[in-house]
Amino acid sequence: MSSNTESAPAFLGDFIHGAFVPPAGGEPFSSHDPARDGAVVLTALADASAVDVAVAAARRAAGAWGRLSLKERAAHLLRVAEHAKAFEPAMADAITREMGKPIAESRGEAGSVAAKIHTTIAQLSHELPAAAPGAPGEQRFHALGVVAVIGPFNFPVHLVNTHIIPALLTGNTVVVKPSEVTPLAGQRYAELFAAAGLPPGVFNLIHGLGAHGAALAGHPDVDGVIFTGSYATGRRIRQATFDQPWKKVSLELGGRNPAVVLDDAHLDQAVREILLGALLSSGQRCTATSRVIATAGIAEALRARLAQAFAAVVPGDPMDRDTLVGPLASLGARDRFMGLLAAARAEGAVPVVESRALPGGAFVTPSLYQVRGDEAFLREEFFGPHLDFEIAADDEDAFARAARNPYGLSASLFTARESLRDVFFDRVRAGVINFNRSTNGASGLLPFGGTGMSGNWRPAGSLAPRLCTYPVAVMAEPFGRLTPHAALDDLLETTR
Ligand code: NAD
Repeated sequence: MSSNTESAPAFLGDFIHGAFVPPAGGEPFSSHDPARDGAVVLTALADASAVDVAVAAARRAAGAWGRLSLKERAAHLLRVAEHAKAFEPAMADAITREMGKPIAESRGEAGSVAAKIHTTIAQLSHELPAAAPGAPGEQRFHALGVVAVIGPFNFPVHLVNTHIIPALLTGNTVVVKPSEVTPLAGQRYAELFAAAGLPPGVFNLIHGLGAHGAALAGHPDVDGVIFTGSYATGRRIRQATFDQPWKKVSLELGGRNPAVVLDDAHLDQAVREILLGALLSSGQRCTATSRVIATAGIAEALRARLAQAFAAVVPGDPMDRDTLVGPLASLGARDRFMGLLAAARAEGAVPVVESRALPGGAFVTPSLYQVRGDEAFLREEFFGPHLDFEIAADDEDAFARAARNPYGLSASLFTARESLRDVFFDRVRAGVINFNRSTNGASGLLPFGGTGMSGNWRPAGSLAPRLCTYPVAVMAEPFGRLTPHAALDDLLETTR
């Protein structure tokens, strides 16, 4: 289906201590183009010994990097931002080739690298505030030390970059492990840092599978882990680091995000925003809309419009600038998606629009299912272009349904009544609450992250700098001043 015929890029190896380390051995693994029947994009090597070497390099660099002033570290990062423009096309191309995201979305993702550097520098003093007036000392923030960043496949550049930049600016050194689905995107990102020339050991990137991510997360010389990925892996990381209480483990996990549409909603707006939520990145976003809960007065009209739109979607070549929906990330992801749909039907979900797998790659058409709202499969993240549609008796029932969710990443409410915003905020627990807008989309200037099975600590967004540091209370007396204490004065008198 794709017209992409670019020749195979070379694997450069891990990036450690300021240079690519020519691959000497390890376990081979490949990325695949989901728009071309899974053709190999890059074969990489996962070298188990690289974890120790990269962590040691990051540890050696941590002291000097942490002692630089913010201004000095910012100057280094601004060099990365300057070089980023030149690397954007190659990063975007790698993202689309390896996971099938439409190229227009991939370009936006690649373009976010430089933007994140500028916004983080601008927000740093605000996010690491001074102590309250009257405090008997200073409130300062110390770098954690060595931070491991482990990334998912769906935003292979953005979701490591968004953690790496605050970590570096606050004085940490990093070891990054990109997803094994997207090693070329990881390599392109490391090439950018190589070009910018940060001090050796400050930025390190190792390739690997889940086992290498586990070795990195559990490494005794790693002070912080920032993980983005599935709930199942996040759970494993928490278990593996249970006996490392010093380690700050930050988890950005999955979502099952509801859009609640009340009778007085603006129908065109709700349809558009729900489609954006369900279809961008083929529904493979942690913030994707995957449940629609509509009250009875609008339900039929809304369902009909969504069904019409879904039936008209034709997945296309992700390299085409005009493509709205590309393939899923892999043939495996397609099979998993189809399996989840079968399980939903087995539980009684009724297809309004059924998904079809198309030939030529991991292409699927979107699906819309009518559900009761109490099915077990509603607890599963589908990670594909799928909506479950349920009808609520009234506003309260709609809110109660939206609140029945083990995840808590993002939720939307569509209504004309602003008075309901506080009610929704109160009833539905989620890290991102949207009014009359899609569940998708995040801002680096606001907190980002979830409740429940969606994660902890908000390691992305505006709170990221705080997550990459530990706060320190600093108190001081003027040199030579003796603290008054009558009883101690008497005691000390006897010792003169
Ligand atoms: P995944 O959990 O399968 O893999 C993520 C990363 O973890 C990969 O780099 C993988 O190699 C590594 N890994 C695997 N096993 C590991 C282990 N035991 N220890 C340490 N690392 C290990 O996730 P995925 O399929 O790449 O990504 C999709 C998931 O990510 C979805 O659930 C999605 O919702 C979630 N996600 C969340 C956010 C967010 O911000 N909350 C953003 C994007 C994606």
